[in-house]
Amino acid sequence: MMERSSTDKASQLKLNAAELLKNVKTSREKSPFKQEVTVCAATKTQSAELINMLPDLGITTIGENRVQELLDKYPLIDKDRFKIHFIGHLQSNKVKYIIDKVDMIQSLDSLSLAKEIDRQAKKHSKIMNVLCQINIGREESKSGVDPDKVEEFLLSIKDLTSIKVQGLMAIPPICEDFSVQKQYFQKIMQIFIDIKGKNMDNINMHILSFGMSGDYCQAIECGANMIRPGTALFGKRDYNKEN
Ligand SMILES: *Cc1c(COP(=O)(O)O)cnc(C)c1O
Repeated sequence: MMERSSTDKASQLKLNAAELLKNVKTSREKSPFKQEVTVCAATKTQSAELINMLPDLGITTIGENRVQELLDKYPLIDKDRFKIHFIGHLQSNKVKYIIDKVDMIQSLDSLSLAKEIDRQAKKHSKIMNVLCQINIGREESKSGVDPDKVEEFLLSIKDLTSIKVQGLMAIPPICEDFSVQKQYFQKIMQIFIDIKGKNMDNINMHILSFGMSGDYCQAIECGANMIRPGTALFGKRDYNKEN
């Protein structure tokens, strides 16, 4: 297959972004929560050139998955115009490379990672925003805290003063049948509301990040206030291309 030219990709991105923002608006209106929604563009495999177009299209938060890829792109991104989130699985020994570069780590999934983020944040006199990732479908292939252990996990990290929990993140299982998927969405929302109601010290619960290209409309209708679309913005990813 021929590589699409970069102008094609740019004009496609413009169209896709407009379409996506329109759908976000419609879904918000349908949502009983009428929440504000932040679009965090999942930018893995995408070029800095394309990423840099996003703010003019109304998208100012991006999420990267891999440490090395983030470090490669970092010098090329218009950092003043973006919030950069880390959304992929993060190994503790790599926290030091990104601690001064990201505004939020959405993929906090263990106490040892929390301790390392806290330690590195202190070194940089910074408070790192994090989301607690929940493995809502209890899938082997996905990381995240067990849905029944979220409160216990948050209690275990509440004294780490250089991290600030701002909410929850999940990657729900893909289900053919939306009524099944909806149960996962509602479960995430329930955990979010329960934890919020507990008003735990040092734990904020205002961001709820779930919904990707295939399900962001339904996610918003079920209460997500941060979505992470990739393909819906950029088209199908090309993993073979060297970044
Ligand atoms: C890749 C990725 C996305 C975006 O997936 P799409 O299906 O392309 O929208 C969202 N969240 C995470 C954590 C991802 O790794």
